[in-house]
Amino acid sequence: MSGRHDRRETGRGSGLLGRVLRVLRGGGSDPRDPLTGLPGHAAFVPELRARLLAARGEVPLAVAVLDVDRLREVNAVFGYEAGDRILAGLGRLLRGCGLGPAFRISGDRFALLVDGAAHGDVAAAVEELRLRLCGPFVVAGVELEVQVSAGLALHPLHGRDADRLLRAAELALDAAKTRGGSRTVVFEPEIDHGLSRRKRLEAALRRAVRERAFTLHFQPQFELAGGTVVGVEALVRWPAEDGAVPPSDFVPVAESTGLIRALGAFVVEEGCRVAARLLREGLLVPVSLNVSPAQLRRPEMAEQVERALARHRVPAEMLELEVTEGLFVDPQQVHIRRNLLRLHELGVRFALDDFGSGYSALAYLKNLPAARIKVDRSFVAGLGRDRADEALLAAIVELGRVFGKRILAEGVETEEQRRVLAAVGCDEAQGYLFARPMPEEELLAFLAARRRAARGDVGGEPPPSADFPRSAASST
Ligand code: C2E
Ligand code: CA
Ligand code: CA
Repeated sequence: MSGRHDRRETGRGSGLLGRVLRVLRGGGSDPRDPLTGLPGHAAFVPELRARLLAARGEVPLAVAVLDVDRLREVNAVFGYEAGDRILAGLGRLLRGCGLGPAFRISGDRFALLVDGAAHGDVAAAVEELRLRLCGPFVVAGVELEVQVSAGLALHPLHGRDADRLLRAAELALDAAKTRGGSRTVVFEPEIDHGLSRRKRLEAALRRAVRERAFTLHFQPQFELAGGTVVGVEALVRWPAEDGAVPPSDFVPVAESTGLIRALGAFVVEEGCRVAARLLREGLLVPVSLNVSPAQLRRPEMAEQVERALARHRVPAEMLELEVTEGLFVDPQQVHIRRNLLRLHELGVRFALDDFGSGYSALAYLKNLPAARIKVDRSFVAGLGRDRADEALLAAIVELGRVFGKRILAEGVETEEQRRVLAAVGCDEAQGYLFARPMPEEELLAFLAARRRAARGDVGGEPPPSADFPRSAASST
């Protein structure tokens, strides 16, 4: 059932209703998007209104909104032509999907009107379609799989008018994205409540930034072969009144509201203070800070770091910034590049964080002066069980060799994972197996105890993670 056929079907009738429907639809003018061959947003709302009117509140009708997760990254990595090819492919699949008329309502967003009566389980039908939309698409000779998310709203359950239904479907799509994307979410009132929860979170975060209610915890990073501590990662903590809020909840809110700048400034200041303290204690351990693109976009970011380093008399080499691939697709490249360059000149080091979780274009490795690549823990999880993960890790280690980067594996939790990592020649590791993130005082005690143990001091406390590669540690 093609979109056009569908449209004509409900447009039938020469009575008043038929005339009203034709007027609502804008007199039949139907400018189609040349890329996908689909009608656009201008045609969508009138069509939805017309169908609702024809349904007279009785017939079940569903609005599905679909879009490609991280199309911007596809564009950045493979070029706009690739993005266009994918959109055209999606348009073709949607036109022939048989569920109802499809529209391209904005850049990478599609809407679909599904006749609920003709398709019993609409959610299942949309999920099936969504899976088909994930490709692969052949772009410049490469098979590319994309992730598509869908939000679904049902008439009359989730709204009786076009605006409400579209809003509900878009909220459901947002929910699909915040739950990690690549899924179909059916609207539910909790999603709306979640939105007000987010507003509350935002207000609390604003207050917390003002009151500097954050602290840093530190997680040591180890050399795999020798067991030496090669760095510590600073991880921000927000101990709120009603229990700690995990960074995965509030960092995205901070990023989207601009609060990340104040939060980031706090992290830089605190990170430098602790780095100075480690130095004073004779512990030569660099401190890694997580920075988000929103911070590096600020023209004064590099100077801010420079001032903090000077204030605490910390050499730039003692500071590492963990950045993600998101940086390379950020629209404000000019400032980002300038900041990266300036910080690099200062001697600040970089690590490419969460490697493997995005599209991981190899070009990034060339463009970023990062000495270290942190392999995302999703690759580490399967080690020892999943041959594919092992092969991937071995390939990344090899890649590190070629590019002259150190490879650190994140989220190492089991002895088995450690064994495989050592076997494929991974340089460094971080994870609960070795040490959890800990408060500043605990970190100092941890590092001092390890130093004593390494020197073979007698009477010193045993290192808290005495179980860490004892055989390997004794060889140093
Ligand atoms: P990330 O940079 O990937 O940080 C590592 C996360 O993995 C931390 O979670 C850490 O506690 C956790 N982790 C470490 N070892 C293990 C392990 O063996 N198993 C498991 N399951 N997890 C492990 P955390 O502290 O919840 O941080 C989450 C994310 O929040 C970080 O991911 C980072 O992206 C962001 N974040 C944290 N602190 C900051 C910050 O100061 N600034 C910015 N911009 N982002 C931050
Ligand atoms: Ca990190
Ligand atoms: Ca990471």
